[in-house]
Amino acid sequence: MNKGLLVVVSAPSGCGKDTVINALRESDFKFEKTISDTTRVMREGETNGVDYTFIDETTFKNRIENGYYLEYTVYNGNFYGTPKSEVEKHLDKGECVLMKIEVEGAGNVRKLMPEAVSVFLVPPSMEELEKRLRGRGTETEESFKKRFETAKQELARAPEYDYIVVNDEISKCVEKIRNIIETEGLRYCAMKNFVDDLLR
Ligand code: ADP
Ligand code: 5GP
Repeated sequence: MNKGLLVVVSAPSGCGKDTVINALRESDFKFEKTISDTTRVMREGETNGVDYTFIDETTFKNRIENGYYLEYTVYNGNFYGTPKSEVEKHLDKGECVLMKIEVEGAGNVRKLMPEAVSVFLVPPSMEELEKRLRGRGTETEESFKKRFETAKQELARAPEYDYIVVNDEISKCVEKIRNIIETEGLRYCAMKNFVDDLLR
């Protein structure tokens, strides 16, 4: 069986990662999304064990010590980490795994797993990014300013990614990501086991 494809998706905060990934999920495209641990407070509408596993800092630090995470980072003062098991259990079954993580973590995953495909979502304009970030209604003025500044720094990391997808219209954006995943799944490294079986 071919090993599954690991897809890393990043975007500046508020660009629309959650919206696009939810739309991808609603299309008939089959993929598994990793569920990260975080120490940040749960937002309205989020569910523990679905959006994130919400844990306290002591538990998070213990898990770091125990080598539980494939990667982790501190973002806006909160810990976020991807449990190794979240990735391995699906890749071993040949399933496509999607990680929605920020730029530092994406860089770490690329070093650990160079075969991963990385996609960077960007807004159609900075004005639109501001509108989306404010429109979500989850930010105070102070946290908005902080996130918008972080977003600009994150955008400067675009050259590190394999693909850049503009999140203008959600459906177009979803189609582009599907095309990327389908094409990447045909690379020799992804199809190696299949070819080896043919030659056996
Ligand atoms: P992120 O997960 O990157 O922080 P969200 O998915 O929460 O961003 O989106 C931020 C806001 O932008 C939300 O209010 C969402 O409805 C809106 N949004 C996302 N994508 C689009 C889009 N393509 N067109 C218009 N609004 C969008
Ligand atoms: P939010 O607080 O808006 O849900 O997430 C903040 C940032 O942390 C987003 O860019 C999100 O993609 C990223 N993030 C979520 N989970 C992880 C993770 O496990 N590892 C890393 N490195 N970043 C994560």
